[in-house]
Amino acid sequence: MHDEQQRAVAEATANAPERPLVVAIDGPAGAGKSTVARGLAAKLGLRFLDTGAMYRAVTLLAIEAGIAPSDAPQLTALCEDLELDFDPAGQVVVDGRCLEPEIRRADVTGHVSEVSAQPGVRAAIVARQQEFGRRWEGLVAEGRDTTTVVFPDASHRFYLDASPAERARRRALELGVPDEVDRIQAEIELRDGKDSGRAHSPLIHGDGVELVQTDGLEAEGVIEALLELVRGGGVQP
Ligand code: C5P
Repeated sequence: MHDEQQRAVAEATANAPERPLVVAIDGPAGAGKSTVARGLAAKLGLRFLDTGAMYRAVTLLAIEAGIAPSDAPQLTALCEDLELDFDPAGQVVVDGRCLEPEIRRADVTGHVSEVSAQPGVRAAIVARQQEFGRRWEGLVAEGRDTTTVVFPDASHRFYLDASPAERARRRALELGVPDEVDRIQAEIELRDGKDSGRAHSPLIHGDGVELVQTDGLEAEGVIEALLELVRGGGVQP
């Protein structure tokens, strides 16, 4: 290449707008995605997008409105009218009402997989997530389809996993019910089955998505390892 051409390429590259950093993290329930994504976002100075909270919000509002989790037309209409946003702390807000911690209730957890499997619900919620992706200057997103459907072109894509026993142990500690590990493991496995087996955007380990096994690791160690990978250090936990 001539000097002049080289200079032109260098200038074009220098002036090209830098793509905002998008990190997408998927995995099954209790793999530690939420803690890790939140911690990573804080370290990178980015916003955190909890996509599961959006499906939980739709489920809570459907329960309050008396809409059955199988009622596809009503659920779709509910989603399309929804003023759904996040406050600066990353908590889901609908029409000015913060829905934490109600969206973590057991009845919401029990119905969310059925609600989130509805194609009309997914279309409306995924569009909203992609809008956040355009509006925010970079983000760390976590969920079930953020690496495959919502942000397939993310700068970095990770799949966090752990054995069902380990995930149940963590979730039981988080909920303050360490004696109920068996019940929680059964619930996690049921939800995994529904989220992985559904027809639309199932939970899968997508092609080219970096697998991170977190058995036996503390969240802080996983955050540091992902931070290294994002910054180019390439260290696996
Ligand atoms: O991550 P969390 O447990 O809050 O997710 C709640 C539910 O929302 C999941 O079990 C799944 O049914 C649904 N979900 C989804 N796609 C996402 C995130 C969550 O279908 N991207």
